[in-house]
Amino acid sequence: MLLEVRDLHVEFRTRDGVASAVNGVSYAVDAGETLAVLGESGSGKSVTAQAVMGILDMPPGRITGGEILFQGRDLLTLKEEERRGIRGAEMAMIFQDALSALNPVLTVGDQLGEMFVVHRGMSKKDARARAVELMDRVRIPAAKERVGQYPHQFSGGMRQRIMIAMAMALEPALIIADEPTTALDVTVQAQVMELLAELQRELRMGLILITHDLGVVADVADRIAVMYAGKIVETAPVHDIYRAPAHPYTQGLLDSIPRLDHKGRELYAIKGLPPNLMAIPSGCPFHPRCPRARDVCRTDVPPLYEVSATRGSACHFWQETLNKEPVHAAR
Ligand code: SF4
Ligand code: MG
Repeated sequence: MLLEVRDLHVEFRTRDGVASAVNGVSYAVDAGETLAVLGESGSGKSVTAQAVMGILDMPPGRITGGEILFQGRDLLTLKEEERRGIRGAEMAMIFQDALSALNPVLTVGDQLGEMFVVHRGMSKKDARARAVELMDRVRIPAAKERVGQYPHQFSGGMRQRIMIAMAMALEPALIIADEPTTALDVTVQAQVMELLAELQRELRMGLILITHDLGVVADVADRIAVMYAGKIVETAPVHDIYRAPAHPYTQGLLDSIPRLDHKGRELYAIKGLPPNLMAIPSGCPFHPRCPRARDVCRTDVPPLYEVSATRGSACHFWQETLNKEPVHAAR
């Protein structure tokens, strides 16, 4: 296994108290595999990824438990210097906002080239040639002419391609993309997602795709992990999830995807708000918003029940959810 996160816990100390951002997350990604991590903002999906990248464990964030095994090594036991060596070279991250992730005063060519100068000891001239190659590879037109331009001179979609080029420059084993297309318009979104999926297949990288939008992952993900209140509430092969979710929260996310054949119909929205991480509800954390909630849901924390060998759901009533039985009135 390329990456295995085991029972990870992360908290944030704030003036108002301790926020439990990640509460026992476990997931795994293999080479050549795409895991989509799905959830609303504040579900812990980005924080988990930042812990994997090693860009989190500093105040106010604190990893309070768990293991992160990358190619067999527990990253949480490594020194910062060793982790820095892994970042960029063996695992890389793509962020939502390329404009703030790229350095505004360096040309695109210098930023791409720097990867090769710093990690591979290349001359500036050779690094520049590699930068042009990379820009070609992510299909930026006229790469030779544009390599000397600055990030703000590119469109949003082109900047996101530059971010992808930077992330894959050293052909890392793992890429984490955090909402990589959220800031783009729909057509550009699809192109960027397609490019990412294509490069991932070619280089047999592991890919963690973080998104709040279940609509964008259907064609690219192998597995999905749905997060809520810092926990994984459902995990399954992507097609199983679309066919029949086994958790009411996943069902709600699916029902909120805009669909062409439902045009004109009001879009479903899960009622209520994501929980306050300083006061996570008792029992099943989803119970205040769940249409299937019953008394037991308020008191008993659901474990991740085994739905099948490849599938888990943290719902006491996963069977009736899976079988789409009518919702019982909440008591
Ligand atoms: Fe809803 Fe209860 Fe299942 Fe939680 S355990 S998702 S509240 S039915
Ligand atoms: Mg986020």
